[in-house]
Amino acid sequence: MTATQKRGYYGRFGGMFIPEILHSNFEELIRHYETAKADPAFWQEYETLMKTYSCRPTPITYAENLTTHFGGAKIFIKREDLNHTGAHKANNVMGQGLLTKRMGKTRVIAETGAGQHGVATATMAAKFGFACTVYMGAVDVERQRPNVFWMEQLGAEVVEVTSGSQTLKDAINAAYRDWSGSMDTTHYVLGTACGAYPFPEMVAWFQSIIGKEARAQMLAQQGKLPNRVYACVGGGSNAMGIFGGFFDDAGVELIGVEAGGKGIDSGQHATRLTAPEGKLGIAQGMKTIFLQNDEGQMNDTHSIAAGLDYIGVSPILADLQEQGRVRFESATDTEVIAALELTIKKEGIIPALESTHAFVQAFKEAPQMGNDEIILINQSGRGDKDIFTIADAFQDKKWQQFIIKKAEQYRNK
Ligand SMILES: *Cc1c(COP(=O)(O)O)cnc(C)c1O
Repeated sequence: MTATQKRGYYGRFGGMFIPEILHSNFEELIRHYETAKADPAFWQEYETLMKTYSCRPTPITYAENLTTHFGGAKIFIKREDLNHTGAHKANNVMGQGLLTKRMGKTRVIAETGAGQHGVATATMAAKFGFACTVYMGAVDVERQRPNVFWMEQLGAEVVEVTSGSQTLKDAINAAYRDWSGSMDTTHYVLGTACGAYPFPEMVAWFQSIIGKEARAQMLAQQGKLPNRVYACVGGGSNAMGIFGGFFDDAGVELIGVEAGGKGIDSGQHATRLTAPEGKLGIAQGMKTIFLQNDEGQMNDTHSIAAGLDYIGVSPILADLQEQGRVRFESATDTEVIAALELTIKKEGIIPALESTHAFVQAFKEAPQMGNDEIILINQSGRGDKDIFTIADAFQDKKWQQFIIKKAEQYRNK
């Protein structure tokens, strides 16, 4: 592994740490990405696609009942949950789908952990008529059966990866192995603002549609910008998306919220930027902050939200923290469940467990802010997908009985 050049660095983070065998893949992708980015017709085509296939622009909802409940800042929610397939992931996969078409390729591959990016990619492949292979750790295949079911129904081949810890990082390695031998036909659709250049920047670019819309919507609806913007941070793509609309507005404070899991002191969390175990390292194509011990061994991560428990984080966000432009906080599993219950009851909105991390921090700060101040929360996705985890956390007895009955029916078949 070598850094090819200084291209793709954000402060001291980023770069291209890729094996020799992938150099031509990356060079080809960089050429097409940079050309597409310079071509206004490409972005126009993208916006039209998102408008007609994924309900863009997504609205901003005034959470009036939560605002009254906390008695401080006005709370607004950017509704990425209303995208097709239920999350902001559609923004990235549809953009990369258009790029795949432009490159003349006919097949896409993807890694997936929780399965949400796999489902989004399989959906895009069905729409564009691409062949699709999704790499997924065997452990995750077991844990995320509903998403595996949908990927297969959508026509994707799901390959169970049985090397290493059999989770997301092993799936990424398997996808790279595929790509090194399939470049002529295949584009690798990476799922978040991580990896070697151009992926962090390219994914952030497609997700920037969130922030562009949100900024214009706040001005149109409220006549001013929000004082604080909150987003949850897994790899960092939805955060980069909404923050991107406000980087040049010095008065808008940007807050990223990581998975505090069972608490920062428990060792069971995914707080790369807000815990002492977060250290500079090089892995998975990039130099960034990873959760690792003093020998550089990657730690195990934990979160109630499967989409937030990644060992690394976007190099662009690591740099923004160092510049002081983005503040990072964390929310524990317990806090997430309480905030989720409150949001469901007060607003009739079910945020994904991932997104709820951003709500937790906003709810902590809203009461301390003035009535004339504005909070904007990016709701990255919807919580329907989390029914198994949420029903367990709420200890819903009727749901348990339903599952037991269902299992008995299968057993008797
Ligand atoms: C995947 C996912 C995330 C985490 O990914 P980012 O790249 O950090 O945005 C957050 N929310 C939802 C709903 C997701 O599906």
